[in-house]
Amino acid sequence: MAHAVGAQVSLSVPVRTDVSLRKSGLKGRNNLSFHNNLWVPFTSLDLGSNNVQSKHQFKVVCMSIQQASRSKVAVKPLELENAQGPPLNLYKPKEPYTATIVSVERLVGPKAPGETCHIVIDHGGNVPYWEGQSYGIIPPGENPKKPGSPHNVRLYSIASTRYGDSFDGKTASLCVRRAVYYDPETGKEDPSKNGVCSNFLCDSKPGDKIRLTGPSGKVMLLPEDDPNATHIMIATGTGVAPYRGYLRRMFMEAVPTYKFGGLAWLFLGVANTDSLLYDDEFTGYLHDYPDNFRYDKALSREQKNKSGGKMYVQDKIEEYSDEIFKLLDRGAHIYFCGLKGMMPGIQDTLKRVAVQRGENWDEKLSQLRKKKQWHVEVY
Ligand code: FAD
Repeated sequence: MAHAVGAQVSLSVPVRTDVSLRKSGLKGRNNLSFHNNLWVPFTSLDLGSNNVQSKHQFKVVCMSIQQASRSKVAVKPLELENAQGPPLNLYKPKEPYTATIVSVERLVGPKAPGETCHIVIDHGGNVPYWEGQSYGIIPPGENPKKPGSPHNVRLYSIASTRYGDSFDGKTASLCVRRAVYYDPETGKEDPSKNGVCSNFLCDSKPGDKIRLTGPSGKVMLLPEDDPNATHIMIATGTGVAPYRGYLRRMFMEAVPTYKFGGLAWLFLGVANTDSLLYDDEFTGYLHDYPDNFRYDKALSREQKNKSGGKMYVQDKIEEYSDEIFKLLDRGAHIYFCGLKGMMPGIQDTLKRVAVQRGENWDEKLSQLRKKKQWHVEVY
């Protein structure tokens, strides 16, 4: 029972993806439902094994809500934990790795504008990565700009920890928004101009093969030198992907080499409630780790900012600017991920707040960059 805080009896965790967790009774934590779930004691997880029969032996029939909280999944530390640096570009566009789709699930509700999918990919442990890195995907077909050549690589932030959603180090998950094209004059969708790779990924089926490159990226790696550090994570839409990985590492997995005791603060901007991504997972952390996790949402089409306009993520930043600036002064890391368009509004807000505080934003920003507290990945 090494990792359970205050637990008296055997604890269990579901061996399922968070998406299926969301669809199961874990929603809201008040109506836990265990029927049809595959529960195994977390201390006994051998995730390398596919022996479903042996997992059934551990089915737990009794579990209170209090016991459910704070239980973490014990992961068998991968060699990756001891590496000096992250794996980089193990597979290149000329020699990509052929991986297999495990599952594709729609993440958003019916009232969300557009579609975002959670895609689990089996890489067999051959394309390891660290949280915050990206994979490249080469969609099938020919590059229209270079006849005879494959499509260019598209990058996607990895939305799982290095252990993957099945905790065995053999999968990676992506959070992909389907790029669709609307004719500006007619307002109608023009499928001939839809995004190639995002549609390929969202339309793929379990068992389909996909070509991977990478992993790549160092900017969004989670600094783990201080397990008690503060991490302020700002996302719009699919920009939440790397943070899902961080938060699972902090709060869902019992990683012997990283016992998080700091503060993780997530600001997520989306259109409306139905567009929220991984909301149940994050709400669960709020319940289980109220001292270590904060979660603020900006729903542009549902909420109003203090001037009566749409609520964007920068409005939430402004609301908490005093705390944010103090945390930055004390060494907090701040991350930005999502569409490029998010940055100008955020930068303007931060600059305005700095001026109000009698600080020089440009100087502050250059200090934050110098001290490696400032992490930006926008696309
Ligand atoms: P493309 O085929 O490349 O088309 C791009 C856009 O052009 C689309 O909106 C398409 O509708 C439009 N278009 C196509 N043809 C025309 C035309 N004739 N006229 C006008 N417009 C046209 N995306 C995510 O969803 N999730 C992530 O986690 C994520 N992480 C990323 C991380 C990094 C570091 C980077 C750089 C990007 C990331 N992206 C992510 C974006 C992703 O790489 C792709 O750019 C995105 O999915 C669109 O690719 P696509 O092949 O679907 O669209």
